[in-house]
Amino acid sequence: MLLTAKNLIIGDGKTNLRNGAILIGENGKIKEVGLLSQLQAKYSNEAITDFQDASILPGLTDMHVHFGYYYSQPDSYNYDNYMLAYYAQEQGKKALELGITTVRDLSSPSGLMKQLRVACEKGYCQGPRIIHTDTGMCMTGGHGHDDGIVEVDEPWNIRKEVRKQLRDGADWIKVLTSNRTSVPEYTQEELDAAVDETHRLGYKCAVHAGLQPALQMSIDAGFDTIEHGTFLTYEQVKQMVANNQAWIPTMTAYTVLYEFCKEKIEAGVDKGDRIAAKAIQDMTFFEPAYNAYKDNFKKFYDTGVVVCTGSDMVLYEAPPLPINREMELMVEYGITPLQAIQTATENPAKVLGMQDIFGSLKEGLMADILVVKGNVEEDIKAINAVIEVYQSGKSVYKK
Ligand SMILES: [Zn+2]
Repeated sequence: MLLTAKNLIIGDGKTNLRNGAILIGENGKIKEVGLLSQLQAKYSNEAITDFQDASILPGLTDMHVHFGYYYSQPDSYNYDNYMLAYYAQEQGKKALELGITTVRDLSSPSGLMKQLRVACEKGYCQGPRIIHTDTGMCMTGGHGHDDGIVEVDEPWNIRKEVRKQLRDGADWIKVLTSNRTSVPEYTQEELDAAVDETHRLGYKCAVHAGLQPALQMSIDAGFDTIEHGTFLTYEQVKQMVANNQAWIPTMTAYTVLYEFCKEKIEAGVDKGDRIAAKAIQDMTFFEPAYNAYKDNFKKFYDTGVVVCTGSDMVLYEAPPLPINREMELMVEYGITPLQAIQTATENPAKVLGMQDIFGSLKEGLMADILVVKGNVEEDIKAINAVIEVYQSGKSVYKK
Protein backbone atom coordinates (compact mmCIF):
# COMPACT_ATOMS: atom_id res chain seq x y z
CA MET A 1 0.00 0.00 0.00
CA LEU A 2 1.32 3.43 -0.99
CA LEU A 3 0.24 6.50 1.01
CA THR A 4 0.85 9.91 -0.44
CA ALA A 5 0.05 13.58 0.25
CA LYS A 6 1.43 17.02 -0.58
CA ASN A 7 3.35 17.05 2.72
CA LEU A 8 5.28 14.15 4.18
CA ILE A 9 6.70 15.16 7.57
CA ILE A 10 9.55 12.85 8.49
CA GLY A 11 9.67 13.74 12.22
CA ASP A 12 13.30 14.87 12.31
CA GLY A 13 12.44 18.50 13.04
CA LYS A 14 13.29 19.79 9.57
CA THR A 15 12.09 17.67 6.65
CA ASN A 16 8.85 18.06 4.76
CA LEU A 17 9.15 15.88 1.68
CA ARG A 18 6.84 17.52 -0.83
CA ASN A 19 4.80 15.05 -2.88
CA GLY A 20 6.40 12.21 -1.01
CA ALA A 21 4.99 8.75 -0.45
CA ILE A 22 5.50 5.82 1.87
CA LEU A 23 5.23 2.20 1.02
CA ILE A 24 3.80 0.05 3.80
CA GLY A 25 4.81 -3.59 3.74
CA GLU A 26 2.62 -6.52 4.72
CA ASN A 27 4.46 -6.80 8.04
CA GLY A 28 3.09 -3.38 9.06
CA LYS A 29 6.47 -1.71 8.66
CA ILE A 30 7.55 1.13 6.42
CA LYS A 31 9.22 -0.46 3.43
CA GLU A 32 10.32 2.66 1.62
CA VAL A 33 10.00 6.45 1.74
CA GLY A 34 10.55 8.66 -1.30
CA LEU A 35 8.98 10.81 -3.95
CA LEU A 36 5.64 9.54 -5.20
CA SER A 37 6.87 9.56 -8.80
CA GLN A 38 9.78 7.27 -7.94
CA LEU A 39 7.84 4.85 -5.75
CA GLN A 40 5.01 4.70 -8.25
CA ALA A 41 7.41 3.73 -11.02
CA LYS A 42 9.13 1.17 -8.83
CA TYR A 43 5.97 -0.40 -7.36
CA SER A 44 3.45 -0.01 -10.16
CA ASN A 45 1.14 -2.72 -8.80
CA GLU A 46 0.66 -1.12 -5.37
CA ALA A 47 -2.66 0.49 -4.54
CA ILE A 48 -2.29 4.21 -3.86
CA THR A 49 -4.16 6.19 -1.23
CA ASP A 50 -3.80 9.86 -2.10
CA PHE A 51 -4.58 12.32 0.69
CA GLN A 52 -3.90 15.27 -1.62
CA ASP A 53 -3.36 18.58 0.26
CA ALA A 54 -3.00 16.82 3.58
CA SER A 55 0.07 16.12 5.76
CA ILE A 56 1.30 12.65 6.59
CA LEU A 57 3.39 12.42 9.75
CA PRO A 58 4.56 9.83 12.24
CA GLY A 59 2.01 8.80 14.86
CA LEU A 60 2.41 11.04 17.93
CA THR A 61 3.77 10.07 21.34
CA ASP A 62 2.42 11.62 24.53
CA MET A 63 5.19 11.28 27.10
CA HIS A 64 3.17 12.19 30.18
CA VAL A 65 -0.28 10.69 30.63
CA HIS A 66 -2.28 9.18 33.48
CA PHE A 67 -4.89 6.90 31.95
CA GLY A 68 -6.08 5.84 35.39
CA TYR A 69 -6.47 9.22 37.11
CA TYR A 70 -10.15 9.49 37.83
CA TYR A 71 -9.64 11.50 41.03
CA SER A 72 -11.11 14.74 39.71
CA GLN A 73 -14.28 13.08 38.42
CA PRO A 74 -17.27 14.41 40.37
CA ASP A 75 -18.50 10.85 40.86
CA SER A 76 -15.11 9.44 41.80
CA TYR A 77 -16.91 7.24 44.37
CA ASN A 78 -18.16 5.19 41.40
CA TYR A 79 -14.65 4.21 40.40
CA ASP A 80 -14.01 0.68 41.56
CA ASN A 81 -11.53 -1.46 39.62
CA TYR A 82 -14.10 -2.31 36.95
CA MET A 83 -14.96 1.31 36.23
CA LEU A 84 -11.28 2.16 36.26
CA ALA A 85 -10.62 -0.35 33.49
CA TYR A 86 -13.44 1.04 31.35
CA TYR A 87 -12.13 4.54 31.97
CA ALA A 88 -8.58 3.66 30.94
CA GLN A 89 -9.89 1.84 27.89
CA GLU A 90 -11.73 4.99 26.84
CA GLN A 91 -8.53 7.04 27.22
CA GLY A 92 -6.79 4.60 24.91
CA LYS A 93 -9.50 4.96 22.31
CA LYS A 94 -9.33 8.77 22.52
CA ALA A 95 -5.57 8.67 22.10
CA LEU A 96 -5.87 6.88 18.78
CA GLU A 97 -8.53 9.33 17.61
CA LEU A 98 -6.05 12.16 18.24
CA GLY A 99 -3.26 10.43 16.34
CA ILE A 100 -1.41 9.39 19.50
CA THR A 101 -0.03 5.94 18.75
CA THR A 102 2.30 5.69 21.77
CA VAL A 103 1.95 6.90 25.36
CA ARG A 104 4.15 6.82 28.42
CA ASP A 105 1.88 6.54 31.44
CA LEU A 106 3.61 8.08 34.45
CA SER A 107 1.50 6.67 37.28
CA SER A 108 -1.89 5.06 37.30
CA PRO A 109 -3.37 2.69 39.87
CA SER A 110 -1.08 -0.30 40.23
CA GLY A 111 -1.37 -2.93 37.50
CA LEU A 112 -3.90 -1.01 35.39
CA MET A 113 -1.61 -0.10 32.49
CA LYS A 114 0.03 -3.48 32.43
CA GLN A 115 -3.38 -5.10 32.01
CA LEU A 116 -4.59 -2.53 29.49
CA ARG A 117 -1.57 -3.31 27.33
CA VAL A 118 -2.36 -7.03 27.48
CA ALA A 119 -6.05 -6.35 26.77
CA CYS A 120 -5.08 -4.35 23.66
CA GLU A 121 -2.75 -7.12 22.53
CA LYS A 122 -5.57 -9.62 22.95
CA GLY A 123 -7.82 -7.40 20.86
CA TYR A 124 -10.32 -6.79 23.68
CA CYS A 125 -9.91 -3.08 23.06
CA GLN A 126 -7.90 -0.66 20.95
CA GLY A 127 -5.29 1.67 22.27
CA PRO A 128 -1.85 3.12 21.64
CA ARG A 129 1.44 1.39 22.33
CA ILE A 130 1.85 1.64 26.10
CA ILE A 131 5.04 2.30 28.04
CA HIS A 132 4.32 2.69 31.73
CA THR A 133 5.52 3.10 35.27
CA ASP A 134 3.65 1.56 38.16
CA THR A 135 2.27 4.11 40.62
CA GLY A 136 4.71 6.92 41.28
CA MET A 137 6.43 7.10 44.67
CA CYS A 138 6.73 10.02 47.07
CA MET A 139 7.85 10.58 50.64
CA THR A 140 5.30 10.06 53.41
CA GLY A 141 2.88 12.96 53.05
CA GLY A 142 4.51 13.98 49.75
CA HIS A 143 3.03 15.13 46.46
CA GLY A 144 0.19 12.91 45.33
CA HIS A 145 0.02 10.68 48.40
CA ASP A 146 -3.71 11.35 48.55
CA ASP A 147 -4.07 10.53 44.83
CA GLY A 148 -2.77 7.01 44.82
CA ILE A 149 0.98 7.73 44.84
CA VAL A 150 2.74 5.19 47.05
CA GLU A 151 4.60 6.57 50.08
CA VAL A 152 8.10 5.18 50.50
CA ASP A 153 10.86 6.58 52.70
CA GLU A 154 14.54 5.76 53.21
CA PRO A 155 17.00 4.63 50.53
CA TRP A 156 16.67 0.89 51.07
CA ASN A 157 12.89 0.95 51.07
CA ILE A 158 13.03 2.96 47.87
CA ARG A 159 15.37 0.43 46.31
CA LYS A 160 13.01 -2.33 47.35
CA GLU A 161 10.01 -0.54 45.85
CA VAL A 162 11.93 -0.06 42.59
CA ARG A 163 12.69 -3.78 42.52
CA LYS A 164 9.09 -4.68 43.28
CA GLN A 165 7.67 -2.41 40.58
CA LEU A 166 10.10 -3.68 37.95
CA ARG A 167 9.33 -7.25 38.98
CA ASP A 168 5.65 -6.49 38.49
CA GLY A 169 6.15 -5.26 34.95
CA ALA A 170 6.87 -1.52 35.06
CA ASP A 171 8.90 -0.19 32.13
CA TRP A 172 9.97 3.00 33.93
CA ILE A 173 10.16 4.29 37.50
CA LYS A 174 8.51 7.55 38.57
CA VAL A 175 9.42 9.60 41.63
CA LEU A 176 7.71 12.79 42.85
CA THR A 177 9.70 15.27 44.88
CA SER A 178 8.20 18.76 44.79
CA ASN A 179 4.80 20.26 45.31
CA ARG A 180 4.35 23.99 44.68
CA THR A 181 6.70 25.04 47.46
CA SER A 182 10.44 25.48 47.80
CA VAL A 183 10.57 22.61 50.26
CA PRO A 184 12.12 19.61 48.51
CA GLU A 185 10.42 16.36 49.50
CA TYR A 186 12.94 13.54 49.13
CA THR A 187 16.48 13.94 50.47
CA GLN A 188 19.40 13.74 48.07
CA GLU A 189 20.25 10.34 49.47
CA GLU A 190 16.78 9.03 48.67
CA LEU A 191 16.76 10.45 45.13
CA ASP A 192 20.21 9.00 44.49
CA ALA A 193 19.01 5.59 45.67
CA ALA A 194 15.99 5.65 43.33
CA VAL A 195 18.11 6.49 40.29
CA ASP A 196 20.97 4.19 41.19
CA GLU A 197 18.72 1.19 41.73
CA THR A 198 16.73 1.82 38.55
CA HIS A 199 19.82 2.26 36.39
CA ARG A 200 21.60 -0.65 38.03
CA LEU A 201 18.73 -2.89 36.93
CA GLY A 202 18.82 -1.50 33.39
CA TYR A 203 15.80 0.81 33.44
CA LYS A 204 15.11 4.52 33.25
CA CYS A 205 13.41 6.87 35.67
CA ALA A 206 11.38 10.07 35.58
CA VAL A 207 11.02 12.69 38.29
CA HIS A 208 8.25 15.15 39.00
CA ALA A 209 10.12 18.32 39.98
CA GLY A 210 9.06 21.90 39.44
CA LEU A 211 10.89 24.14 41.87
CA GLN A 212 14.25 24.77 43.49
CA PRO A 213 16.07 23.14 45.11
CA ALA A 214 14.24 19.93 44.13
CA LEU A 215 15.21 20.52 40.50
CA GLN A 216 18.94 20.76 41.18
CA MET A 217 18.74 17.70 43.42
CA SER A 218 16.95 15.76 40.67
CA ILE A 219 19.48 16.78 38.03
CA ASP A 220 22.32 15.78 40.35
CA ALA A 221 20.67 12.43 41.09
CA GLY A 222 20.65 11.69 37.35
CA PHE A 223 16.99 11.17 36.43
CA ASP A 224 16.51 10.46 32.72
CA THR A 225 13.56 12.79 32.31
CA ILE A 226 12.64 15.88 34.29
CA GLU A 227 8.85 16.24 34.32
CA HIS A 228 7.57 19.85 34.39
CA GLY A 229 10.83 21.60 35.34
CA THR A 230 8.73 24.72 35.69
CA PHE A 231 11.36 26.92 37.33
CA LEU A 232 14.50 25.49 35.77
CA THR A 233 17.37 27.93 35.24
CA TYR A 234 19.39 28.27 32.05
CA GLU A 235 22.45 26.87 33.82
CA GLN A 236 20.51 23.82 34.94
CA VAL A 237 19.21 23.14 31.44
CA LYS A 238 22.81 23.20 30.22
CA GLN A 239 23.65 20.62 32.88
CA MET A 240 20.77 18.50 31.59
CA VAL A 241 22.21 18.68 28.07
CA ALA A 242 25.59 17.53 29.38
CA ASN A 243 23.95 14.69 31.37
CA ASN A 244 21.65 13.65 28.51
CA GLN A 245 18.53 14.36 30.58
CA ALA A 246 15.34 15.16 28.67
CA TRP A 247 12.77 17.83 29.57
CA ILE A 248 9.04 17.20 29.46
CA PRO A 249 7.69 20.70 30.25
CA THR A 250 3.92 19.87 30.21
CA MET A 251 3.18 23.57 29.68
CA THR A 252 -0.44 22.98 28.73
CA ALA A 253 -1.40 21.69 32.15
CA TYR A 254 -0.06 24.86 33.80
CA THR A 255 -1.52 27.13 31.14
CA VAL A 256 -4.99 25.62 31.42
CA LEU A 257 -4.91 26.02 35.20
CA TYR A 258 -3.64 29.58 34.89
CA GLU A 259 -6.46 30.41 32.49
CA PHE A 260 -9.00 28.71 34.72
CA CYS A 261 -7.91 30.72 37.78
CA LYS A 262 -7.74 33.95 35.80
CA GLU A 263 -11.26 33.49 34.53
CA LYS A 264 -12.56 32.77 38.03
CA ILE A 265 -10.84 35.82 39.48
CA GLU A 266 -11.97 38.11 36.67
CA ALA A 267 -15.53 36.97 37.07
CA GLY A 268 -15.41 38.67 40.47
CA VAL A 269 -14.86 37.06 43.78
CA ASP A 270 -17.86 36.40 45.83
CA LYS A 271 -17.18 36.10 49.52
CA GLY A 272 -17.79 32.52 50.44
CA ASP A 273 -17.23 31.26 46.88
CA ARG A 274 -14.82 28.50 47.73
CA ILE A 275 -13.79 27.83 44.13
CA ALA A 276 -12.91 31.49 43.57
CA ALA A 277 -11.04 31.69 46.87
CA LYS A 278 -9.03 28.64 45.87
CA ALA A 279 -8.40 30.16 42.44
CA ILE A 280 -6.84 33.25 44.04
CA GLN A 281 -4.64 31.08 46.18
CA ASP A 282 -3.64 28.84 43.24
CA MET A 283 -2.87 31.87 41.10
CA THR A 284 0.15 32.68 43.27
CA PHE A 285 1.68 29.51 41.84
CA PHE A 286 0.19 29.25 38.36
CA GLU A 287 0.83 32.82 37.23
CA PRO A 288 4.62 32.69 37.77
CA ALA A 289 4.60 29.16 36.36
CA TYR A 290 2.84 30.31 33.20
CA ASN A 291 5.24 33.24 32.85
CA ALA A 292 8.31 31.07 33.42
CA TYR A 293 7.36 28.80 30.53
CA LYS A 294 6.49 31.72 28.28
CA ASP A 295 9.75 33.57 29.02
CA ASN A 296 12.12 30.60 29.01
CA PHE A 297 10.88 27.92 26.66
CA LYS A 298 12.69 29.09 23.52
CA LYS A 299 15.87 29.99 25.40
CA PHE A 300 15.97 26.53 26.95
CA TYR A 301 15.07 24.78 23.70
CA ASP A 302 18.02 26.50 22.03
CA THR A 303 20.49 24.88 24.43
CA GLY A 304 19.83 21.65 22.57
CA VAL A 305 18.09 19.95 25.49
CA VAL A 306 15.86 17.12 24.28
CA VAL A 307 12.28 18.32 24.70
CA CYS A 308 9.33 15.92 24.59
CA THR A 309 5.63 16.62 24.42
CA GLY A 310 3.60 15.50 27.40
CA SER A 311 0.06 16.56 28.19
CA ASP A 312 -0.44 15.54 31.85
CA MET A 313 -4.06 16.62 31.78
CA VAL A 314 -6.24 14.94 34.35
CA LEU A 315 -8.75 17.61 35.30
CA TYR A 316 -12.45 17.01 34.98
CA GLU A 317 -13.87 18.57 31.80
CA ALA A 318 -10.40 19.47 30.48
CA PRO A 319 -9.77 18.32 26.91
CA PRO A 320 -8.39 14.77 26.84
CA LEU A 321 -4.68 14.34 26.03
CA PRO A 322 -4.23 17.87 24.60
CA ILE A 323 -0.80 17.34 23.05
CA ASN A 324 -1.94 19.46 20.12
CA ARG A 325 -2.19 22.39 22.52
CA GLU A 326 1.30 21.65 23.89
CA MET A 327 2.74 21.81 20.39
CA GLU A 328 0.79 25.01 19.67
CA LEU A 329 2.30 26.62 22.78
CA MET A 330 5.79 25.59 21.70
CA VAL A 331 5.24 27.28 18.34
CA GLU A 332 3.74 30.34 20.02
CA TYR A 333 6.89 30.55 22.16
CA GLY A 334 9.19 30.50 19.16
CA ILE A 335 10.04 27.12 17.63
CA THR A 336 8.86 25.92 14.20
CA PRO A 337 5.95 23.54 13.68
CA LEU A 338 8.35 20.88 12.38
CA GLN A 339 10.46 21.22 15.54
CA ALA A 340 7.32 20.97 17.68
CA ILE A 341 6.31 17.80 15.85
CA GLN A 342 9.76 16.34 16.51
CA THR A 343 9.10 16.70 20.27
CA ALA A 344 6.15 14.34 19.84
CA THR A 345 7.72 11.90 17.38
CA GLU A 346 11.48 11.36 17.05
CA ASN A 347 12.48 12.76 20.46
CA PRO A 348 10.20 10.56 22.59
CA ALA A 349 11.23 7.45 20.65
CA LYS A 350 14.89 8.28 21.40
CA VAL A 351 14.26 8.95 25.08
CA LEU A 352 12.37 5.66 25.33
CA GLY A 353 15.24 3.90 23.53
CA MET A 354 12.79 2.79 20.82
CA GLN A 355 13.95 4.87 17.86
CA ASP A 356 14.45 1.67 15.87
CA ILE A 357 10.79 0.77 16.33
CA PHE A 358 8.80 3.98 15.80
CA GLY A 359 8.97 7.78 15.94
CA SER A 360 9.73 8.82 12.37
CA LEU A 361 8.87 8.01 8.79
CA LYS A 362 11.87 5.88 8.01
CA GLU A 363 12.41 2.58 6.31
CA GLY A 364 12.14 -0.36 8.70
CA LEU A 365 10.10 1.39 11.42
CA MET A 366 6.54 0.45 12.31
CA ALA A 367 4.02 2.24 10.10
CA ASP A 368 2.45 4.29 12.92
CA ILE A 369 1.05 7.17 10.92
CA LEU A 370 -1.13 10.22 11.36
CA VAL A 371 -2.78 12.00 8.44
CA VAL A 372 -4.14 15.52 9.02
CA LYS A 373 -5.86 18.02 6.79
CA GLY A 374 -3.76 20.93 5.49
CA ASN A 375 -0.08 21.77 5.72
CA VAL A 376 1.04 21.29 9.30
CA GLU A 377 4.47 22.77 8.49
CA GLU A 378 2.77 26.13 7.97
CA ASP A 379 0.13 25.87 10.66
CA ILE A 380 0.61 23.64 13.69
CA LYS A 381 -3.12 23.88 14.41
CA ALA A 382 -3.63 21.53 11.46
CA ILE A 383 -2.53 18.77 13.83
CA ASN A 384 -6.12 18.92 15.18
CA ALA A 385 -7.69 18.04 11.85
CA VAL A 386 -7.21 14.30 11.95
CA ILE A 387 -8.21 12.40 8.80
CA GLU A 388 -6.87 8.93 9.50
CA VAL A 389 -4.59 7.10 11.92
CA TYR A 390 -2.60 3.95 11.24
CA GLN A 391 -1.01 1.67 13.76
CA SER A 392 1.53 -0.85 12.47
CA GLY A 393 0.21 -0.23 8.98
CA LYS A 394 -3.45 -0.83 9.85
CA SER A 395 -6.06 1.89 9.82
CA VAL A 396 -7.33 2.27 13.40
CA TYR A 397 -9.27 5.51 13.10
CA LYS A 398 -10.87 7.33 10.23
CA LYS A 399 -12.80 10.57 10.51
ZN1 LIG B 1 1.60 13.90 35.87
